[in-house]
Amino acid sequence: MQSAVIGFPRVGKLRELKFASEKYFRGEIDREKLLEIAKGLRKEHWEWQKRTGVQYISSNDFSFYDNMLDTAVLLNVVPERYKKLKLNEMDTYFAMARGYQGKAGDAPALAMKKWFNTNYHYLVPEVEKDTQIKLSGNKPFEEYLEAKNAGIQTKPVLIGAFTFLKLAKYQRNKTANDYIDSIVKAFKEILKKFDDLGAEWIQFDEPALVTDLTKEDICLFETLYNQILENKGKLKVLLQTYFGDVRDCYDNIVTLNFDGIGLDFLEGKHTKTLVEKHGFPKEKVLFAGLVNGKNIWKCSYEKTIVTLSDLKKYANRIVLSTSCSLLHVPYTLENENILKDEVKQYFSFALEKLQELQEISVLTECDNYKEQKAYVDNKKIFEQQRFFQNAEVRQQVAALSEKDFIRQPEHAIRLNVQKKVLELPILPTTTIGSFPQTQEVKKNRSNYRKGEIDKNAYDNKIYAFIKECIEKQEQIGLDVLVHGEYERNDMVEFFGENLAGYVFTDKAWVQSYGTRCVKPPIIFGDVKRIAPITVEYSAYAQSLTKKPVKGMLTGPVTILNWSFPREDISLKEMAYQIGIAIKEEVHDLEKAGIRIIQIDEAALKEKLPIRKSDWYSEYLDWAIPAFRLCHSSVKPETQIHTHMCYSEFNDIIKDIDNMDADVISFEASRSKLTILDAIQESNFETEVGPGVYDIHSPRVPSVEEIVEVLKRMLVKIDKEKLWVNPDCGLKTRGIQETDASLKNLVEATNIVRNQL
Ligand code: GLN
Ligand code: ZN
Repeated sequence: MQSAVIGFPRVGKLRELKFASEKYFRGEIDREKLLEIAKGLRKEHWEWQKRTGVQYISSNDFSFYDNMLDTAVLLNVVPERYKKLKLNEMDTYFAMARGYQGKAGDAPALAMKKWFNTNYHYLVPEVEKDTQIKLSGNKPFEEYLEAKNAGIQTKPVLIGAFTFLKLAKYQRNKTANDYIDSIVKAFKEILKKFDDLGAEWIQFDEPALVTDLTKEDICLFETLYNQILENKGKLKVLLQTYFGDVRDCYDNIVTLNFDGIGLDFLEGKHTKTLVEKHGFPKEKVLFAGLVNGKNIWKCSYEKTIVTLSDLKKYANRIVLSTSCSLLHVPYTLENENILKDEVKQYFSFALEKLQELQEISVLTECDNYKEQKAYVDNKKIFEQQRFFQNAEVRQQVAALSEKDFIRQPEHAIRLNVQKKVLELPILPTTTIGSFPQTQEVKKNRSNYRKGEIDKNAYDNKIYAFIKECIEKQEQIGLDVLVHGEYERNDMVEFFGENLAGYVFTDKAWVQSYGTRCVKPPIIFGDVKRIAPITVEYSAYAQSLTKKPVKGMLTGPVTILNWSFPREDISLKEMAYQIGIAIKEEVHDLEKAGIRIIQIDEAALKEKLPIRKSDWYSEYLDWAIPAFRLCHSSVKPETQIHTHMCYSEFNDIIKDIDNMDADVISFEASRSKLTILDAIQESNFETEVGPGVYDIHSPRVPSVEEIVEVLKRMLVKIDKEKLWVNPDCGLKTRGIQETDASLKNLVEATNIVRNQL
């Protein structure tokens, strides 16, 4: 059996691309050097795949920042504000990704959104009134040829026309339908070019097909591909779907002129039934997504081979594939030094997954596969007692009852109590938690990790950073302070490290956006808090000031969503276990005199099922309670904040309000404040701090700009309920831009306050 990889991670085993790009941004290396490093990485990635016998290797899965952005540039969807800067191609590209402020002008970045139900973010293409969609780039062709010249035949991959049009943003009365002709033309040209270049296959990624589709959507898809696939020459076209099943359009897509269809048999709950019920066209190749591209556990060969042999009854030709791009898993176990072998044996990262593809492919060709070593070894792993259990935690979860999820007294009443105790001005200013992680901060952490300094020395530094941070915030004049989160590398990993049941990796980075990678910890057993986690740092910060300092915690849903979860117990069970741990921390903070506690649920929406019909039953029915569990028994005067890294929660606005926090801050500046209408219409009870500027960009917002934003917010939000804060944590920013931005934020707030 042949095997295929939908896409491969690109930042490099040791994040080489990240470091090179950042050097380029700082002007430390030139464009040629960056290109050279990228080229080296691509070659390495193709060669690994070739070496492990993958037949369908992707090209153009590489990106300097994001594949959606690549596609936008390829299709000439470049807004005027970037064209006006008249930068070279690469810098225009980075300006779209990161925003630009400099000699050439000032242009905020494109909006960034979560890629379906992952923690990867894509840039939202902006189709402007005058945008002409047309083929206007060479990247996919160049990369294809680069591989070919290195002796590797690849299948170029592109975001499909449908997904592209569905995710793009349009100006006023325009819709996707207005761009059908132009995008069809561009895609036909792309097919023609690849056919001429000698490509055998091309892959169109159409994950938008696994979402709830309307009749119009299906019609759009058919219209697009009926035309794109006419006269496609010898080139074979693979329609690739992932992150779910295509239950709304299975019949439609199998009748179109694709040569191969890629389906996700892991996240797609109905995928197998669809194939069994409706059959699969004889002349097409089924790319069966069975090796998990999202989780890090070994694949069960037994289960996979059974599924494959069932599928053989329906499909003539099957290629074994990953369930989605391997972008969502780390590179390799090779560099993992802290994981113990007895733990490591359960895991498989991208490189190991290549080997799984190879082994399963070989096994499917053997009659006596059950006797083969690869099979026997794999089976053993699934048979042994896998996870350590903690009876006490299990018991605590089992004993939870309704009252554990309800905070008393109700919001309106406790709000008054809090107002009296906290004595905050109108439009209170604050930040989301972290302050810039400077070289010094990182150095302190790495020195400690390497054992070069002891815990005491490490903490002393942290205390010094905290002190400086508090002084700075007082100077700037913020109202609610934070300790700066200098002890955290990552808002989830840090908590994971302080909870039993977790295991950690050294180098298991996964791209989150652009040059930003995260290293999700792994839930290996029952989760339990061992000792207070943040209390000393928060208490110290509070001791330095009369102003309230927020205690900063990560919420259970986010901890769970940004970890690699177990596969043997339910997500709900894991979320409640973590919820209990955070609840204990909340209480200890309260006892230590912390008056405001922020429980971040940055990733709450991320795992909202792609299909509406699954929202409650599969997710919200336990996710919202898991959050409430953490704060249900705090004192009325303790103010609970939460934070979310996005503002598209119009659809679940009631559920967000139901988390019953006192204040919520969220991203808003990149998304044109549309959420404010929903907040107004739903009589949102929770006080709100919609971010007044974008922290994902180094750009400093001006006072006027922030005044403007605040005024727009005040049209929709009661002045008693509005908080003023940046979009998100400041850890990825530099000191200077942060200071300047926060000063402007406070100044703007003062101006607006005086006018109220
Ligand atoms: N409190 C966290 C910080 O400021 C929140 C980060 C996030 O929302 N991703 O860094
Ligand atoms: Zn955030």
